[in-house]
Amino acid sequence: MNIVGHLINGQLVSETNRTQDVFNPATGETARQVALASAETVERAIAAAEAAFPAWRDTPPIKRARVMFRFKELLEKNADTICQMIGEEHGKIAHDAAGELQRGIENVEYACGIPELLKGEHSKNAGPNIDSWSEFQPLGVVAGITPFNFPVMVPLWMFPMAIACGNCFILKPSERDPSATLFIAQLLKEAGLPDGVLNVVNGDKEAVNTLLRDPRVEAVSFVGSTAVAEYIYSTATARGKRCQALGGAKNHAIVMPDADIDNAVSQLLGAAFGSSGERCMALSVAVAVGDAVADALVDKMREAMKNLKVGAYTDSNNDFGPVITRQHQEKVVGYINSAEEQGATVVVDGREPRIPGYEKGFFVGGTLIDHVTPEMVSYKEEIFGPVLQVVRVKSMQEAMDLIDNHEYGNGTCIFTRDGEAARYFSSNIKVGMVGINVPLPVPVAYHSFGGWKRSLFGDLHAYGPDGARFYTRRKSVTQRWPSSGIREGAEFSMPTMK
Ligand code: NAD
Repeated sequence: MNIVGHLINGQLVSETNRTQDVFNPATGETARQVALASAETVERAIAAAEAAFPAWRDTPPIKRARVMFRFKELLEKNADTICQMIGEEHGKIAHDAAGELQRGIENVEYACGIPELLKGEHSKNAGPNIDSWSEFQPLGVVAGITPFNFPVMVPLWMFPMAIACGNCFILKPSERDPSATLFIAQLLKEAGLPDGVLNVVNGDKEAVNTLLRDPRVEAVSFVGSTAVAEYIYSTATARGKRCQALGGAKNHAIVMPDADIDNAVSQLLGAAFGSSGERCMALSVAVAVGDAVADALVDKMREAMKNLKVGAYTDSNNDFGPVITRQHQEKVVGYINSAEEQGATVVVDGREPRIPGYEKGFFVGGTLIDHVTPEMVSYKEEIFGPVLQVVRVKSMQEAMDLIDNHEYGNGTCIFTRDGEAARYFSSNIKVGMVGINVPLPVPVAYHSFGGWKRSLFGDLHAYGPDGARFYTRRKSVTQRWPSSGIREGAEFSMPTMK
């Protein structure tokens, strides 16, 4: 069977000591296998990155940008192949995979501006004959560990910017859908990236722990579930590494009494069920302010959900596909069962969808649950499936308290026509990314992405300006060229400009 290997020092390497099945979630069949890197393999990748660093660091930023321009063009040229790979291993429908790729490409476009981003700051005559400047130097060897749900976009949040800044990168993609990630890394080589600057090691926690332990790795970017994010952050920072670790989410949408309900319903449909709810920005809780809104929302949602099309990635008419594994399918169904057991009402039940020809696929149909309360397990935990839960509250303040008290703080949204309420909400809510009548407020590539509370461990958000800061270290230089012949005496007091 075909085995997905690693990319080390520009060469595809196949290591077959340990492997894991990669499924086609639509059929439930094993599509191929992925090699799980040993510590030695990861160490070889780190050594390759370390060796490539001095020359890459000294490559002028404009030349590094040119590689990124060519990379962008290759990503666009190979879009169909990439989307096909995403579909086969993740299950995402082609139009959704194309959206993921486009969002990733926008991060490459931002990285093309690296000469501008690295310009630094300069002050002439900070003192007599003294100039002072700050420059932003690359860190060295940096690593990225990515989740299954965006096998192309999330890696593109990381390595284009890190590499454009002059670092060398080790990427550890998700072992559940590794092919598209490995393919785009090969495109960057084709774009002219020198060998060793980007290395890909496929694997599981053995590979991750090797990256965390190795003193040559200066920084780690992580995106995945909160339990692993917290582990990565505490382990990496305890070893003196810079770390940003983005975790899970539970994103609430407040539906206000004055909202355009039909608009809210169509926005919620896409944001709750798109990509089978396997997005860290998926809206998974609708908080209806007042019973009249809740009743209208549930009625209209029930109607609209009759038109949801669930099926294989090969049919572009489908709205969303399967979830990633059989185990995850069972977990999602378990949350629906538990909500029902704890007293919620399952209004639309997706536990047994019938997809002709794909009976063994890992499908869950769109599910709507009403009368969910904050004590329920299905409310507290991230479901990561096509399940929208409705919580009924009496006031906007009660809705905001609910959101603020949740352990996650990734994204949120308010549907309203009231500008004052929206402004109060966006100013005060304890969540990192806020939408006002925008259900998926994923920041554009020239802003930065990150949640609050237990949705992000670390100080800097991902990509955009924060990405450029994360992958560089500030150095401040002060220089003096005394006028010829003038020698200044020893100065024992703290130098000032007084
Ligand atoms: P995951 O945490 O299971 O895996 C993420 C990565 O960590 C993978 O590369 C995996 O191999 C590695 N990993 C898993 N267990 C590990 C362990 N015990 N030790 C070391 N490494 C380990 O996440 P996932 O299931 O692939 O992705 C879904 C999760 O990611 C969801 O919780 C989702 O909300 C989150 N996510 C968050 C964001 C964000 O920006 N905040 C974006 C996308 C996904």
